[in-house]
Amino acid sequence: MHVAPTIAEALQRACQEIDHIDARILLQDILNVNHAFLLTHSSQVLSSAQDRIFCQLVARRVNGEPIAYLIGECDFYDLTFIVTPDVLIPRPETELLVELALKRISANNNYRVLDLGTGCGAIALTLAKHCPQINVVAVDFSVAAISVARKNVGNIQVNNVCIATSNWFSELSGEKFDLIVSNPPYVGENDPHLKQGDLRFEPKMALTADTDGLACIRNIVAAASGHLVIGGWLMLEHGYDQASACRGLLEAAGFTETFSHPDLAGIMRVSGGQYNSSSL
Ligand code: GLN
Repeated sequence: MHVAPTIAEALQRACQEIDHIDARILLQDILNVNHAFLLTHSSQVLSSAQDRIFCQLVARRVNGEPIAYLIGECDFYDLTFIVTPDVLIPRPETELLVELALKRISANNNYRVLDLGTGCGAIALTLAKHCPQINVVAVDFSVAAISVARKNVGNIQVNNVCIATSNWFSELSGEKFDLIVSNPPYVGENDPHLKQGDLRFEPKMALTADTDGLACIRNIVAAASGHLVIGGWLMLEHGYDQASACRGLLEAAGFTETFSHPDLAGIMRVSGGQYNSSSL
């Protein structure tokens, strides 16, 4: 007969195959407890169902599946988001885009923000939660992503976000915003990183854009001025080597005050500019 292990034994067994922190997070998720509980209940015996699920998740982790997909959630900024393999897993780098956006957002009650390619809604919902006075529109081309974003709206409890399906600006004709933000797909289609780590399991549609990775950024920059109020800002996350190309595209489209900002690793990660009609 199979004898289920204690918490300590189960963790020790899992750690022979996967990272210690990953093992702990998976077991916490299965038992619905925190780290302190695991430490203080190390001799508690798992039920055979819990042990079976733990073994299955450990095997999937060994196969490379991202922890966020295995537990179905991911922390971003100060919130926790539901994620599924239909959406990109929010990255710490993207918190820079949120911080830069928060600095630009004014206390004005009619301030409107657009998030293009929202995925699970991480950027849009974080801004909406921090700035209850603004109105946020979040769009994604993927219907499956939209359904994840809507779940997050319910979970995080924001009432100032509107989520809709749109291929970039396709469903937004006539709509104007004070700030447009986006973390678009920007990885080149032949980038070897796509065959490594978490990226292997994430939706290609959310990651890749043509051979140089700039196709979506080009589309967004070209169309953004038609959807910004005068003095409005466009801010985009981009790849480690795309900052100057991105600023070049912004300047060619008539944006002024263009900038690039480094992430915590010192890599230029977000570029942006201001729309002033007089400069066109
Ligand atoms: N930052 C992600 C990565 O390279 C890519 C995200 C994106 O394409 N928007 O891991």
